[in-house]
Amino acid sequence: MNIQTILEEISDEVNSLLGRGSVANYIPALAIADPTKFGMAVATVDGGLYSVGDAQDYFSIQSISKIFALTQAFAIQQDDLWRRVSRENAGNELNSLLQLELGMGQPRNPLTNAGAMVTTDIILSAKGKDTKASLLEFIQERSGNKSLGFNEEIAQLEIAHGHRTKAFAHLIASFRNLENHPQTVAMLYFYQCAIEANCIDLAKSVLFLTNRGCCPVSNKQILSASQVKRINSILLTCGHYDVSGDFAFRVGLPGKSSISGAIVSVVPGKMAIAAWSPALGKDGVSLVASEALELFAAKTGQSIF
Ligand code: GLN
Repeated sequence: MNIQTILEEISDEVNSLLGRGSVANYIPALAIADPTKFGMAVATVDGGLYSVGDAQDYFSIQSISKIFALTQAFAIQQDDLWRRVSRENAGNELNSLLQLELGMGQPRNPLTNAGAMVTTDIILSAKGKDTKASLLEFIQERSGNKSLGFNEEIAQLEIAHGHRTKAFAHLIASFRNLENHPQTVAMLYFYQCAIEANCIDLAKSVLFLTNRGCCPVSNKQILSASQVKRINSILLTCGHYDVSGDFAFRVGLPGKSSISGAIVSVVPGKMAIAAWSPALGKDGVSLVASEALELFAAKTGQSIF
């Protein structure tokens, strides 16, 4: 299988779709993204790296950061994590305060904004004032790119506009499912969403999910093989909001999308893939990145099924 040739074919094939959909516009710093950008990168467990298009362009990683928060919280709290956050798809109630209320402050899964409040709270309890730096360092170490940083403008805009997310944090706290102040937890969540990376960094940074929990970039064991199996299961069932079933159907691999138009996906034992194109469909998932991943899975025959 020639991965580079396949990426180039995909880039040609999605070209006519570029510009369809619309970029996220809830904050100005995201609304200025160029909808015609497309990049894709593949990192293999044995050190191979392939990329095409705008794979070196930087964007805020947004909800993809929830994978890293979940990973760190799971490493800290082990199975006690599941007393505080469930692992069921949130369906179209993804952003529902009502659902959280009915769940007595226990978020449906760690990949919702409510769930990220809990995972971030766990990291904050463990790391204290070093939390913000450690969230960034985690991605730097996984990707091997020490120059990754926060986009301060995006972080501040999210903090100013993220009323619903802050409401989640307060509601969870009202059920005593946060150990730290909800405003601090929400602020740290917005900072992790505002970490900037490119497709190459992102593909490398999730390689530990393909390698039984060992990060091949840093040679560190991040989680056990069994824990990684659990994270990949949650990515498959909950990684794409209420269209997770559609992604599983089309691509057949665990993955996670972000409102900035990126998607990461993993082929256990083999490789990690990141695709990015800022224009989103109505479901909040990048139209071209999801199409590119579907093409990749079809052309390579890779699937967990
Ligand atoms: N920062 C965004 C938010 O909290 C992230 C959402 C996303 O990527 N789905 O709404």
